[in-house]
Amino acid sequence: MSARLLDGVAIGNQIRAEVAPAVAEFTKKAGRPPGLGIVLVGDNPASEVYVRNKLKSAGETGMFAELTRLPATASLDDLLAVVDKLNRSDRHDGILVQSPLPDAMGHDAERRVFDVVRADKDVDGFHPTNVGYLVQNRATLVACTPSGVIEILERSNIPIAGARAVIIGRSDIVGKPMALLLLHRHATVTIAHSKTKDLPKLASEADILVAALGRPGFVTKSFVRPGATVIDVGINRLDSKAAVEKMFPGDAARMAAFEKRGGVIVGDVHPDVAEVAGALTPVPGGVGPLTIALLLRNTLRAAQARTGMGSQM
Ligand code: NAP
Repeated sequence: MSARLLDGVAIGNQIRAEVAPAVAEFTKKAGRPPGLGIVLVGDNPASEVYVRNKLKSAGETGMFAELTRLPATASLDDLLAVVDKLNRSDRHDGILVQSPLPDAMGHDAERRVFDVVRADKDVDGFHPTNVGYLVQNRATLVACTPSGVIEILERSNIPIAGARAVIIGRSDIVGKPMALLLLHRHATVTIAHSKTKDLPKLASEADILVAALGRPGFVTKSFVRPGATVIDVGINRLDSKAAVEKMFPGDAARMAAFEKRGGVIVGDVHPDVAEVAGALTPVPGGVGPLTIALLLRNTLRAAQARTGMGSQM
């Protein structure tokens, strides 16, 4: 058996194609496009790539997207001042501060920043007000990655109501909102984490298994009930040739990618899982593209809600 691959690129493109005309309509009515302010602190190479892709996608959809850069040496107060400016700006409907922040900003810097981004501009869905709305199932702005997972499941006709869902990972940005979104769609949800006992047994009870732990290839065949849907949220970089060969023996394309870039991106799910799963998201090309598509949709929603213009999409 070989799992059906769930194509995140195609679904992401579909959502962008839905967002673009609504952006045009908003622009016509408001006399300006929806605006997204992105803040990047430091020069983390992965963040550079993410931010570049977000800016490009926002521009392609017809939005105004602006990057504010701060050096790695910037203080938390410097960053809070930028957020304050964006909070007060009429041009910016959405604000995104790219994670991770430099360690020097302190261990609770991200939380402090998420707390001060205006809730109605919080296109990441991390503000406590938006998290509270999510708990009550009446949120407008929901974290992009777990929302993207729901889009993949729904648009691939994978039943959620009544399904047994297991999520590995309990972070505020993925695991917890993922659990709530599935719960609101009537799945029976279990959240697993690093202290969970007998994880493979628990995971193998799932109809829908979401791996969001940040451990390359951690979820192996023994975690997966035959026919289950497996969603791989993990984004991990393998930068040793031996590790790539071990995870993908005989995979010439992966080795070529490694030789070209000095590393390959892999998920939390081992490739062998494709032999037992019914459906599986690839990495890359699965959940990742949805995160950007949902950021654009959240920015549009924020613009519509803030101005009262355009029908909610
Ligand atoms: P995180 O904040 O580091 O949380 C990881 C979670 O996994 C924690 O709850 C942790 O448990 C759990 N965990 C770690 N090791 C485990 C183990 N051996 N067994 C069971 N649970 C374990 O990570 P995150 O921000 O949620 O991200 C998770 C992954 O998703 C990462 O690879 C990240 O790069 C990726 N990601 C992808 C996207 C995307 O667009 N596709 C977006 C965001 C994140 P404890 O709570 O007990 O420590």
